[in-house]
Amino acid sequence: MNYSFRKKNKIVKYIVLHYTGMKTLGLAYQKLSDIKSNVSIHYLISRNGIIYNLLCPKYKAWHAGHSKWKRNVNINDFSIGVELENKGHDFGYSNYSNKQYTSLKKLIYFSKINFHILDENIIFHSDIAPNRKLDPGEKFFINKIEINRFSNKRKKNKYSIEEMLILYGFHKSYIKKYKKFCIIAVKRSLNYKIINSSISKKFINDFYNLLFY
Ligand SMILES: [Zn+2]
Repeated sequence: MNYSFRKKNKIVKYIVLHYTGMKTLGLAYQKLSDIKSNVSIHYLISRNGIIYNLLCPKYKAWHAGHSKWKRNVNINDFSIGVELENKGHDFGYSNYSNKQYTSLKKLIYFSKINFHILDENIIFHSDIAPNRKLDPGEKFFINKIEINRFSNKRKKNKYSIEEMLILYGFHKSYIKKYKKFCIIAVKRSLNYKIINSSISKKFINDFYNLLFY
């Protein structure tokens, strides 16, 4: 069995976005519905915008693996998982289709109402497992689904990179252990074309604007 029951004290508050990272939709569907694969997902959205509901969100799907976000660990316990069809960085990473964005926007709209999920809790696999995961990646534009993840109030004039990484939402242990990977994950969120861990003035400025405006 590749799903489990949610524990009563672990309520759904996140939506985690992924890409399939497989050559075809058929292969991805097969894997995500195969009880022997040890992975599963609630929703899969094809390039032509069809939403496949593979598992009822009241059950826990196995999509995030080892993961931490803010003060939570094992994000599967707290989340709905959505896979977007895309070959991914290994097999030919492409832009997401407009139909995918339209369907995702609708799906998130209804999930937010049903589960009282906040915009700031629409998160990426690369955020919650920055040392292992790249998805949905730098070609995913969150403004296309009209989600505003960050609206932090500015409390002082200058913030260190570590402070900004905490405000972004990374778990403290990840910032300590995988700071470079956290920087890379932020660059994907910022839709940078060149992804590396260097910290330029432009990056600091872009990161700041992402968090506070
Ligand atoms: Zn993923």
